[in-house]
Amino acid sequence: MTCALALFSGGLDSILACRVVAAQGITVQAVKFVTPFFGYELLAREQEHARKVKESYGIDVVLRDVSESYFTMLRNPPHGYGKNFNPCIDCKILLLREAKTMMKEFSASFLITGEVIGQRPMSQRRDTLRIIERDSGCTGILLRPLCAKTQEPTPAEREGLIDRELLLDFNGRGRQPQIQLAEQFGINDYPRPAGGCVLTEPDQAKRIAWYYGRYPKVRLNDVRMLLFGRHFQLPHGGWLVLGRDEAENSRLETLHDPGDYLVHMPERSGPMGVLHDASHPDDFSAAAGLVVRFGKRIDGEAARATVLFASGSEKFHLETDPLGDQDFQRWAL
Ligand code: SF4
Repeated sequence: MTCALALFSGGLDSILACRVVAAQGITVQAVKFVTPFFGYELLAREQEHARKVKESYGIDVVLRDVSESYFTMLRNPPHGYGKNFNPCIDCKILLLREAKTMMKEFSASFLITGEVIGQRPMSQRRDTLRIIERDSGCTGILLRPLCAKTQEPTPAEREGLIDRELLLDFNGRGRQPQIQLAEQFGINDYPRPAGGCVLTEPDQAKRIAWYYGRYPKVRLNDVRMLLFGRHFQLPHGGWLVLGRDEAENSRLETLHDPGDYLVHMPERSGPMGVLHDASHPDDFSAAAGLVVRFGKRIDGEAARATVLFASGSEKFHLETDPLGDQDFQRWAL
């Protein structure tokens, strides 16, 4: 039986691409690639995710973590960044390359994606689609079922593995054809377009770009930490992350590196902090002042408190007043 391997974002287009091909009796195996920038939280509940996708859309999906290769690509994407820190063209190239390496594992004859020509300004123009195919090494093995009829027939169509007549000719930004097709398949509940990739979110993208500009080597846990909490670049180069609630405090404790300082007030509730790369006494004072500033207030005011710094077996306390807002706003990342 013919098998197709599908790049599956979880959005409507990727769902429909799978269903259009499966409707021809072809086995479709979907793969959802994840990095901390998109989909990473699913790794903790992979089976539940697979069950939901199967129940909701009738699609078999596996997850693959491509964080390390993605981090490398993101430093210098050959086709550049979009409006924020999103390297959409090179992202697609990388994911297709990864998918190509998985074809043997699933005995897949070709790859499919939910791309629709003209739908996205940068990554789905006709010339860009060709570049993505070429630079991923997927020319001749990539089929885009939703816009196949707007393209030259692929080998899978020419060789009769799939019937071109039953494929589609969607193009442009309109969503109506997809919505109608979803109705035909009885799919009513699907994610809204956009969202899901933090590299397109201006504030997050800025922070990630800052991190890339500062560190030559990207660490997974650093990147995971960048995506939540309050962040400050202290005057002498320390990088402080503060949790905003209990859940973030616990995550910071889990993600911090043994070389970082964990910072908190032992006698008052407030944020957990992770302090990276601090060596100057002023940065320790600033970190302490920030922890107190965002800690529990006494009689409605942030009040002087003791702050504990711990890194491995090293521990020390600083007693400090809270920093005033005007003192730290320029440090916020
Ligand atoms: S929005 Fe994010 S996940 Fe989507 S193509 Fe662009 S970089 Fe990749």
